[in-house]
Amino acid sequence: MTTSPQHPLPLVLIVDDDATFRMLSRMSLEQDELHVEEAMSGEAAIEFVSSTMPDILILDLQMPGMDGFAVCKRIRQLPHGSFVPILIMTGLDDVDSIAQAYEMGATDFIVKPCHGLMLSQRVRYMLRASHTMSALRTRESQLAQAQRIARLGGWEWDLVTDRMDLSEAACRILGSLPGSIEPSQSAYLSCVHDGDRKMVAEALHRTTADGSGVDMDHRLVPRDGVERIVHLLGEVTTDSRTQARRLVGTVQDVTDERAAEAKIYFMANYDSLTHLPNRNLFLHRIGQVVTSGTSGHSAVLVIRLDQYHRICERHGAQSGDHLIREVVKRLQQSLSVGITFVPSLGIATSLLARLSDGQLALLLTDLTAPEDSARIAQSCLDALRTPFQIGSNSLALSATIGVAIPGTDGTEADQILRNAGTAAQSATRKGPNSYQFYSDSMNASITARVSLEQDLRTALAGNQFLLHYQPKVDILSEQVIGFEALIRWQHPTRGLISPMEFIPVAEEESLIIPLSEWVIRSVAQQQRTWHQNGLAPLSVSINLSGLHFRQRHIASHMKGLVFAEGGNPQDIELELTESVLMMDASSTATILQELKESGFRLAIDDFGTGYSSLAYLQQFPIDTLKIDQAFIKDLKLGKGDSPIMRAIIGMGRALKLHIVAEGVETRDQLAFLRLQGCDAYQGYLFSKPVPAQQLQSLLRNRLSDEVARTKDRSRNRLTG
Ligand code: C2E
Ligand code: MG
Ligand code: MG
Repeated sequence: MTTSPQHPLPLVLIVDDDATFRMLSRMSLEQDELHVEEAMSGEAAIEFVSSTMPDILILDLQMPGMDGFAVCKRIRQLPHGSFVPILIMTGLDDVDSIAQAYEMGATDFIVKPCHGLMLSQRVRYMLRASHTMSALRTRESQLAQAQRIARLGGWEWDLVTDRMDLSEAACRILGSLPGSIEPSQSAYLSCVHDGDRKMVAEALHRTTADGSGVDMDHRLVPRDGVERIVHLLGEVTTDSRTQARRLVGTVQDVTDERAAEAKIYFMANYDSLTHLPNRNLFLHRIGQVVTSGTSGHSAVLVIRLDQYHRICERHGAQSGDHLIREVVKRLQQSLSVGITFVPSLGIATSLLARLSDGQLALLLTDLTAPEDSARIAQSCLDALRTPFQIGSNSLALSATIGVAIPGTDGTEADQILRNAGTAAQSATRKGPNSYQFYSDSMNASITARVSLEQDLRTALAGNQFLLHYQPKVDILSEQVIGFEALIRWQHPTRGLISPMEFIPVAEEESLIIPLSEWVIRSVAQQQRTWHQNGLAPLSVSINLSGLHFRQRHIASHMKGLVFAEGGNPQDIELELTESVLMMDASSTATILQELKESGFRLAIDDFGTGYSSLAYLQQFPIDTLKIDQAFIKDLKLGKGDSPIMRAIIGMGRALKLHIVAEGVETRDQLAFLRLQGCDAYQGYLFSKPVPAQQLQSLLRNRLSDEVARTKDRSRNRLTG
């Protein structure tokens, strides 16, 4: 219980013009260990309270001069007078006086005369209530102060009435004066940043549905327009039937904390000069790649800038900083260019980091093969080859690169990075501007690939390629209806090399176009030869690479090539894979249309291996669908469960496409395909791809068959 500093006991001020009453009251109150002071008029009371505010006032209403109503009103206006309990003691028990007294700020009343014991009981009770109220006020103000310091507001959302009450601090966080904001969820959401509003609304909704609670950061645009970040926390309270009744929570302005966190995160994970990830973050990313187990290959490259320290010593640290920034710029440019234009690399992605002053690193993911990292290493070296102009100095820099392959060269991030560093160091032994793989087998494979690239150039000039032809057979009549031309490379030392090995290399080395043109010319020549030998024209399929397909004016150019060799585009079918067709659907449609108008037939090769749907491909002017051999291999014959094959053939037929199955090796497969309504097939069952000379007998047989059939027909006509 509070007491005035001068009086250890609670101080009661009795204000009454009746001396007897004052004395009687004093006696009973003092017995109850209360300190009592008296004022005989309203004026005396005001004078007293102006210097010492008592703990409670007992106030008579009817006094000469200033009456009790006026005293009550004046006290409430005094700085410390708002909360002091005032007990009205009056002989008047009419309702009007009591109501008026309450209006003036009275706390309670008691009617005179009253028993002394009752008075002191009432005073004790009021002092206790006043003390509780004052403790509550103190705590409230402490809480409000703490919330202000923590920029933390409270809110409560009644799910039944949809009313959302916000505390003063919450209103202030929303940039509004307390009470000026409409108590609704939509008023709160209107202050949320446009980009986050949907997310917040959904989180609140989800919470009410599953009772899980909200715990999230979101952006806020308060009325003053300065964007803030707040942390929203909420908990569901349920009614007796465990139904969510309301959501109670806090909203805290965490803008400064998040900014500080971001700064700390940046300092811990990024290089302040280049803003690239530092060693710490880079290791973390390698770890993610190792553990994610994604299907693509990855590689870690460490790039050592050989003369960096010497340059810093000679030209100063500032020039060194400038140089590093330029190096990064060139590497980033080379990476984006290289990755976009190397088709076999697909959607390779890269992360450049700065490990230390003169050491950068690169993490490559989604590679088609680990060897592809060699190409990127080379393009990084090429990018740094031209000297850098730093101020008035032209500074030449050389670099060495070490490459480690996650999985092969380690399974832990730091081990992989260490091995790439070791490889970079051993690359310096090879000389400036060189790269080296950590593992010997990779180095051997790269060497083989480099020599393959070189040999491929010589092969083109030296006419080392040849074509094999594989017959396409009508599934019902078992007659040859055409061929697929498949290229082979007669390597002077390695023997016959499969296109699977050299076509991807040719594509990267831009050798594919001359190679492809050679195929077209050879096929047209072959067709002319067959024609000259009296054979009816048979369609030949040619595999067209994506790079060639996207050459400008491809249709007119190819038509020119075919005519120049005495062939006819009508007898040539061009095979394109799904991935080539799907790359840029709108330009694909135009090119296909032009090829079609030039007379070529068009086929989708290896159908089913891409992601395209037949319905999508329907918009292209395709004639033939070649089902990938993987499906034929997977046929579970006799078990009646080849739904994919059935679906492909069914849809192909519905779209009126000529359906060819590839890789048919057994009579069972053939029987199944025939049953399903497939039109033609290709495969070892009938013939492997063979040189043109070996086809002569096959074609001659076919010719004699045809002659026989014609004779039969004319005989029938005569006899019929
Ligand atoms: P592709 O166009 O799908 O050709 C079919 C491949 O399956 C050929 O392999 C063929 O020899 C093989 N094959 C045919 N029947 C059977 C069979 O019954 N069983 C098995 N196991 N295999 C069979 P090849 O000749 O090695 O060609 C591979 C790929 O190289 C071709 O696949 C094609 O994508 C590409 N290619 C071949 N020649 C050229 C060309 O002149 N230009 C371009 N750009 N690519 C070509
Ligand atoms: Mg093909
Ligand atoms: Mg194929």
